[in-house]
Amino acid sequence: MTSKQPAYLVLNAGSSSLKFSAFRPRPSDGDLETLLSGQISGIGSIARFEAKAADRRPLGEHTWDDKDSACRDTLLQYVLNWINTTLVDDDIVAVGHRVVHGGLSLGQPMRVSPDLLDELDSLVPLAPLHQPHNVAPMRILARNFPDLAQVACFDTAFHSSQPPVARNYGLPQALTDAGVCSYGFHGLSYEYVTSHLLASRPDLAEGRVVICHLGNGSSLCAVKGGRSMDTSMGFSVLNGVPMGTRSGSIDPGVILYLMREKQMGLEELEDLLYRQSGLLGVSGISNDMKVLQESADPAAQKAVELFCFRVAKEVAAMAASMGGLDALVFTAGIGENSPEIRALIAERLDWLGVGVAPDANARKAYDISAADARVPVFVVPTNEEMMIARHTIQVLGHKPGHA
Ligand code: AMP
Repeated sequence: MTSKQPAYLVLNAGSSSLKFSAFRPRPSDGDLETLLSGQISGIGSIARFEAKAADRRPLGEHTWDDKDSACRDTLLQYVLNWINTTLVDDDIVAVGHRVVHGGLSLGQPMRVSPDLLDELDSLVPLAPLHQPHNVAPMRILARNFPDLAQVACFDTAFHSSQPPVARNYGLPQALTDAGVCSYGFHGLSYEYVTSHLLASRPDLAEGRVVICHLGNGSSLCAVKGGRSMDTSMGFSVLNGVPMGTRSGSIDPGVILYLMREKQMGLEELEDLLYRQSGLLGVSGISNDMKVLQESADPAAQKAVELFCFRVAKEVAAMAASMGGLDALVFTAGIGENSPEIRALIAERLDWLGVGVAPDANARKAYDISAADARVPVFVVPTNEEMMIARHTIQVLGHKPGHA
């Protein structure tokens, strides 16, 4: 019999990084506390492990040579060994994974099984740059630790409540039926923020809320009564507002033009739209909003202006999808940390009744609404990992303290 407490590992695996966090449910109320978090960056080149405690104290670091830096099996094994030796009072009883795509059928988090892995593989064409990396650690863990429970949590799932009119494109029905429609992403972030608002302002959470997830990847979501009604990202993570290096929505005719007149092929277009556009492409300086805001270069200011213009426009579109706006929420790297961007967006939405109080906005208060604003404005730090840990516990039917 073990006296160790059950803990949950959350993995977010990308093309060159593996982010991890560990959570422990408090036996008293089941609320989750973060034990540690970290990541391996530089997978495929020079892999580097860094971990910190919940209070941001550094806990460990390690660097691999180029030979081992591409071996995901070795890197994942290192994370598990390190966590097991670091968390001496805890026992990892399950792993929750962030998965970008659940298609049309996976509208809920699911326990990982051979059948689910096959289904996730079949969705690779919908998210070829992300899905294979999300699925890889599940297979490694299933092979090396067959008794360890795993749960897959989908970024698309929160949007499964959207009505067809919000999901369908103006394309022939046969293509829509074949899955060429809007799926939406950042769902775990929207779900977390919605749960936060429900706990703190249930009156508003019942209403029509636009959540602006503004980070390196950015999207907006119309949430009515806690359910997603519309979102700015769509079939892929390229749609919507301009992002760090992604274009956001452009006229599809641009792509036809580039193919015909500039002889651009698939890989060149993919590179252009995913990696050379957005804030980086417009400014020619950086994909990093903080760098652009600190720059006096007019090209940097042009990129910032385009970003705010497009976010404000998308807020209005989301409000239209719900027939009104009762609250606006900012989250993710830019949304949480840049009072200037929040103020610039709010300024453009004055006509909708949105207004922020300069003092509260500057000190990143939770409620940053101006006193006379009809639409209250909030800043909620997102926590997708926490959401995944909650789902993992729920899917497995674990009770606090009784894993
Ligand atoms: P995320 O993808 O959520 O980690 O967000 C990353 C983005 O947040 C980058 O564009 C950062 O420049 C931006 N960011 C983080 N802190 C700040 C800040 N203090 N001011 C402006 N942008 C910030």
